[in-house]
Amino acid sequence: MAKVLIPTPLRQFTGKQDAVTAAGATVGEVLGALTSQYPDLRKQIFTEEGKLRSFVNVYLNDEDIRYLGKDATPAADGDTLSLVPSIAGGSVAAPPEEVALTKEEILRYSRHLIIPEVGIEGQQKLKAAKVLLVGAGGLGAPLGLYLAAAGVGRIGIVDFDVVDFTNLQRQVIHATPDVGKKKLDSAAAKMQAINPALRIDKHEVALSSENALDILKDYDLVVDGTDNFPTRYLVNDACVLLGKPNVYGSIFRFEGQATVFAYEGGPCYRCLYPEPPPPGLVPSCAEGGVLGILPGTIGLIQATETVKLILGIGTPLVGRLLLYDALGMKFRELKLRKNPECPVCGDHRTITKLIDYDQFCGVPQPSVQPPAQETQVNEGEIDVVELKAKMDRGDKFVLIDVREPHEYRICNIPGAQLIPLGEFPRHVAEFDKDADIVIHCRSGMRSAKACAVLKQNGFPRVRNVVGGILAWADKVDPTMPKY
Ligand SMILES: [Zn+2]
Repeated sequence: MAKVLIPTPLRQFTGKQDAVTAAGATVGEVLGALTSQYPDLRKQIFTEEGKLRSFVNVYLNDEDIRYLGKDATPAADGDTLSLVPSIAGGSVAAPPEEVALTKEEILRYSRHLIIPEVGIEGQQKLKAAKVLLVGAGGLGAPLGLYLAAAGVGRIGIVDFDVVDFTNLQRQVIHATPDVGKKKLDSAAAKMQAINPALRIDKHEVALSSENALDILKDYDLVVDGTDNFPTRYLVNDACVLLGKPNVYGSIFRFEGQATVFAYEGGPCYRCLYPEPPPPGLVPSCAEGGVLGILPGTIGLIQATETVKLILGIGTPLVGRLLLYDALGMKFRELKLRKNPECPVCGDHRTITKLIDYDQFCGVPQPSVQPPAQETQVNEGEIDVVELKAKMDRGDKFVLIDVREPHEYRICNIPGAQLIPLGEFPRHVAEFDKDADIVIHCRSGMRSAKACAVLKQNGFPRVRNVVGGILAWADKVDPTMPKY
């Protein structure tokens, strides 16, 4: 006997059952047995000639039978067949009475209501839906605006950041007068202006192992718009543990990714990436940059998936990683498989509660990160004010800038020699071991690596400029542009 999972739109033909069993040695036989048991279903998924309709995909366990043996694919006891209709019209269970649409809402959503796949009931589902946005930044901006406009009834936002001037290039939910305001307040004001009936929950916290389950539990699905690995793993694990779909998106420079994790038997983030990259290997948007338009594209793919999941229509982006290349203007799709060895969603789970994600991702603890305001100068470091004094005194020393040439063109410290970090090891032999060497970059991270390279090679007098050229712009030369 094989188990056949019935998707929501087809359950009206199987006596509202979400799973039924049917016997057969092949997929074709199982479907034959299923449809003789439920004749109404037969008309939905087979043509008059008995062929599977083209808008229905059948998966044997996690594999599409089109890539196996089609109808003749052997089906064994304990196998699971899933029927996945690509477009499913109509609606299923009526939403509760209290989400009945008002006259004003019927007018507001009229362009939805006249699509048969949405209709009044679909709009009621949107109104009853509860969605959590993790982050009100680049991805959260289009998500917040469009989900509010589409009529999602309740949207929670997790964010504790304030709007920064450098956010405005892409985070279109925030405007120039919002700089310095909480992102939560700025985003909520725009969303509320679009849709006054929207209920917004503001969660002004950093999502953590302590609070994540409590925050996520009240929502139907979670949209991940974060920009760091610890939070990605945290959101993933919390979604798997709670059984909530995780609508994922990520962006870097000209490229983006999107998929839906932790959805009804589909893979999770850990199935794709069991372990995070070593710290520092994958730069963040702040370090590597991002095309301002890119989060719009990826955020709207996430918004589309969110609305489809709420309505129960179409084929969700489950088990497929969508890759977007803005420069080539190409979309590619990779098949994602659920990993039976996955520590959080596999057969032998070792993660059954939330863990310490900073430690898991190798992120330095806050105590060793440079504080934002008061910069502490440790051994092997130099403050920008001291650097300026050193220059003014005419001290003999070598100043090296390890940023990239396009960064050097934005701003530079007079007298600095440009050697990008990637080329730095090749130049080590050119330096004098007795020289007084000072190295800087944008914020002090890359130059710390360059200092470490020199120290390993036996250079005793090497110092890193704390806070990099940004600190120089703050404390020494306020006319210098920051980036
Ligand atoms: Zn997994």
